[in-house]
Amino acid sequence: MKPRSLAMLGWLVILFSCLRVASAQSVAGEESQPDTTAVSAPGLDYPATALSALQDAQKKTADAFVVQDELDALIHSGGGGACPSAVSIDAIQALRLMAGLERLANPHKAVLAAFANQKALLDGRVTNEQLVALLRFYEDKYLEGRSMDIAIESTPLAPYSPTAKTWSQTDGPDLRVSPRQLKIVTFNVTEASSKHLGRHFVLLKEYVDSAIVVVDPSKPAKELRYILGDSLGDEKSSGHLFLLQPDGAPKRDSIFEVDTVFTITLRDKEVPAVVVPESPKELGKLIDAAAGELLQAKQLRSPRDWRKKTASFGLPGLDLPVEYGGAAWPASKVLEAFMHAGWHDLNCRDVVGGAHVRPLLKSTDLKVLDIVRQVASGDAYVAITMTEPHAGSDFHAITSTARKVEGGYLLSGEKRYVARLEQATHVIIFTQPASGEPKGLSAFVLPIDTPGLEKYSFGAHGLKGNSFGGMKFKDVRVDDWQMIGADGEGDNIFVNHFRYWRLMQVAAAIGTADRALDMMAERLSAREAYGGPIGRFTHLQQSLGQHTTELRMAKALAREAAAMLDRGEGEAADPIINGLKAEGVEIALQAVDAATRAFGAEGYSDRVDLGDRLQDLNGLRIADGTTDVMRMDVVRRSYKNGKELWDMAVKVKKR
Ligand SMILES: Cc1cc2nc3c(=O)[nH]c(=O)nc-3n(C[C@H](O)[C@H](O)[C@H](O)COP(=O)(O)OP(=O)(O)OC[C@H]3O[C@@H](n4cnc5c(N)ncnc54)[C@H](O)[C@@H]3O)c2cc1C
Repeated sequence: MKPRSLAMLGWLVILFSCLRVASAQSVAGEESQPDTTAVSAPGLDYPATALSALQDAQKKTADAFVVQDELDALIHSGGGGACPSAVSIDAIQALRLMAGLERLANPHKAVLAAFANQKALLDGRVTNEQLVALLRFYEDKYLEGRSMDIAIESTPLAPYSPTAKTWSQTDGPDLRVSPRQLKIVTFNVTEASSKHLGRHFVLLKEYVDSAIVVVDPSKPAKELRYILGDSLGDEKSSGHLFLLQPDGAPKRDSIFEVDTVFTITLRDKEVPAVVVPESPKELGKLIDAAAGELLQAKQLRSPRDWRKKTASFGLPGLDLPVEYGGAAWPASKVLEAFMHAGWHDLNCRDVVGGAHVRPLLKSTDLKVLDIVRQVASGDAYVAITMTEPHAGSDFHAITSTARKVEGGYLLSGEKRYVARLEQATHVIIFTQPASGEPKGLSAFVLPIDTPGLEKYSFGAHGLKGNSFGGMKFKDVRVDDWQMIGADGEGDNIFVNHFRYWRLMQVAAAIGTADRALDMMAERLSAREAYGGPIGRFTHLQQSLGQHTTELRMAKALAREAAAMLDRGEGEAADPIINGLKAEGVEIALQAVDAATRAFGAEGYSDRVDLGDRLQDLNGLRIADGTTDVMRMDVVRRSYKNGKELWDMAVKVKKR
């Protein structure tokens, strides 16, 4: 039978059926050997790398791909196989990795949702339009805001529809692979007797030297290689493109002829243009406007609402690198933003900049860095967990563990007295190093919904915009890429991060106290007692004057420390920052306490928020390092015998 007539038989079928698995298996080409000549695929945004990662996962857990035979039984009789349905969700899994997202934990559930949405899929014989509709359904639900361009190119010999774009008879279809682009290739399978068996769908992994490597949904953990040819035997047949068995592979009777290539190109989320103001003063006006609206919506203390709302002017990415969507403001400018936000409410200590996503910048993994991008765009929010039931200030005494297993780690332990677990999308967990070395810690980042993380919450007296509680985890599996930095490097990452974070927390505390003193000043004029304004009682003015100056002193020192950070003098700034974390917060507490007293009973009521400010600051005098420990650290770092004095306090013989 001549190839052209064979093909013509296939073209007569407008609605192609797909092969059932039994026949699909018989269509397999040679299993691909590693090809050292292949172009190396550097990142997960390449189809080869993303598909390889899924194939590795499939071999281990059998849940990365949906395999065609898991769906075949659902297709109505006479409808052929389920390869288009399987290939579509498998494509989405690859596209998620290429977009820097996690693969879906349960792709089978997604397929069932698609069947419920487009019941005609169960009839089989999926058309190109149905396949595109299916991909669009998944795009809406599972690409987290990314979009896809889908281009279809069909054979010129028998175009599938009059409007379909056809490839040139001389050049053939474009089978090149590119980053952030995935191709689904379909081919007709025809028996030597001319009987058309159906159309099969595969994912294109690589195109090298006139051969393609594909992932076939009938056995996706394996990869198959086909040689591309425009002839069968000796006969040339211009315009046809056949998939031939490589040399040495078993001969097959059926003929595979490529008929359509779907090219799916990932487009980044349509993000409204972010216009970050130039100066802290301009930023302050935008913060004020956002605070006003959030207050009205009763969301003033919600970090996630803040972050969503203020992404348009770059607040969540203020101190993140430009390449991840941030504004890369220096510490000196960010400090002013923290003060301004804290003026509104101390819960706003969590709304400026990347906050606890910053340690992730230590990673070089694209998936980890994508979390940074998500924080900058206001979509993600990171909790950080060091403290445990029996280890707080002395964080080296934590007992959470990481055990090395093939391709990852098993984490076990318990964290307690930690903030943000209910609001966060991701969590950083510190453990003892997997190496078992007595020094150093390790750090991992996990999606907050990772199976096995058992969260719990306590009531708390302040900082109520975030939850306060803990989390247990036993043998929770993470992959290698989820470790931030190297094994044992976690404590350095922690110290570097908290150097910056503590300073910004002090700025927020100063801001919250500034506001309390503004309220106090107004109160001294407005409130009358014994026939005149209470401001005539000089002890109230004295107190206002004293706290105003103390806050100004703290501000000046904080600005000095921020400038040191900007000059890269982090270690030299440590005693100043830790001293500020102690005295700045204590000064702020005293100021708010004075303002509360000037308000009398009203200050005790919730008609004003001074009581909250007090309780919030009480939380902050513990969080991120207690006042006592910070003072000890100032001594340790400031005097010749500082280390001796520190050791005197902390190196005790066990009772
Ligand atoms: C609002 C809030 C939010 C928090 N958020 C988080 C979070 O997100 N993630 C997280 O991991 N943890 C978080 N914590 C926990 C916080 O970091 C710890 O509470 C803090 O480090 C102190 O540890 P501890 O409570 O175990 O007190 P301990 O270490 O048991 O200290 C008890 C007392 O002893 C004093 N003390 C201890 N050591 C010394 C020393 N060397 N010198 C002088 N005095 C000493 C302390 O000052 C304190 O008064 C949060 C805490 C609060 C209150």
